[in-house]
Amino acid sequence: MDLRHADLFEISPISILCEDWSGVKRAIDAVIAGGVEDFDRFLDDNPQFFFDVRRFHRILDANRSALDLLGFRDKETFLEESRLRLPANPASNAQVFKAMVRGDTVCQGERVLHTKDGRVVPILWRASLPAGPADPDAYSRLYFFAVDVSELKRVQDALMAAQANLSHAGRLSLVGELAASLTHEVSQPLVSIASHAAAATRWLSRQPPNLDEVATSLNRITVSTQHAVRIVGKMRSFARRGELVTEPMTPQDCIADAVTLVEHEAYRQKTRIAVDVPPHLPTIVGDRTQIQQVIVNIAYNAIQAMQAAKSPERRIAIDASADDGEAVTFTVADTGPGIPDELLARVFQPFFSTKEEGMGLGLSICKTIVEEHGGKLWAANGPQGAILSFSLPVASAQPATL
Ligand code: ADP
Repeated sequence: MDLRHADLFEISPISILCEDWSGVKRAIDAVIAGGVEDFDRFLDDNPQFFFDVRRFHRILDANRSALDLLGFRDKETFLEESRLRLPANPASNAQVFKAMVRGDTVCQGERVLHTKDGRVVPILWRASLPAGPADPDAYSRLYFFAVDVSELKRVQDALMAAQANLSHAGRLSLVGELAASLTHEVSQPLVSIASHAAAATRWLSRQPPNLDEVATSLNRITVSTQHAVRIVGKMRSFARRGELVTEPMTPQDCIADAVTLVEHEAYRQKTRIAVDVPPHLPTIVGDRTQIQQVIVNIAYNAIQAMQAAKSPERRIAIDASADDGEAVTFTVADTGPGIPDELLARVFQPFFSTKEEGMGLGLSICKTIVEEHGGKLWAANGPQGAILSFSLPVASAQPATL
């Protein structure tokens, strides 16, 4: 660095770290030379790799702004302590590792810094990497630029919270409407069920019991029950609202859009979302918004379940697969408490909820949506938490009505 560059480095308002990654590059090259073909999977399967390569990584220099950002008074202390820093954020490191393997020339991301003086600062970071299948020495001076985005995040959080409150208010007024209408409409068949049941009991307790009358009463109970079921069914379609607007879409896009909608809540609840969708899955046809709503609802339930159970590890894995070429199965697995076996079938019933403020309509609406698309929705427990899955027929297998 000549003097002018050195000055710019020092006084830049952007935080800059100069780091030596050549040893890390050599270690990665050795792994690949050792026959590893899927490096991403290797990283997932070998989390200790981050700790193994820690000793090869060096921070060479940091400018004033970076020291301020990281909460250090003097550069010497920072450089001394910085040897402990590489594994601090395996997710960010993994991004750099993967970019090196792909030969990308730029690598960037978002992460949260835990500073020396105890602050938690969200940052955006970016680094330029050598072009092409570079010689490890080309990685001996990488510059990492970081910008503190706390203010931006605060504004974003306030906006998101306002949005969430609005939609919650919308849901609450919907519950109010539903509850009022439900009480009114369902009370009539319920009263009649109760009186026919009382009559049946009376006919039964006669000496001898009048079984013809008992049968008539039971018949009336069945009719009234069916009436009540129809009313609840009408409510569900009311809650779902809107017309079906069908279009072809890839399962990838569907998941990606839904993930965007829950990302903020996941971030707030310290939940990691991992998507694993193989390429070239068949196209499905359906109402994009409604299918997204299904994934969003299921993911929200997962986030809430893990939060309520204070699960130490909070992860949602969203996968899709084309089992037999006829249908695509979407799976949302979490690391929460799971669903008690005796409740597995009940979670899809309208108004079934174990939450204090739950409406108990989410999964029943999801089921209606999936079934209207010609698919199936079911719940199970995995080794770590609940697994909600739904299948949708692939485009060519769609019934003509959709
Ligand atoms: P609500 O979210 O209003 O309770 P839902 O129909 O979406 O209504 O869910 C019904 C119930 O299913 C929840 O109250 C909860 O008991 C259970 N449930 C749903 N998803 C999960 C999950 N991922 N883990 C544990 N329980 C779940």
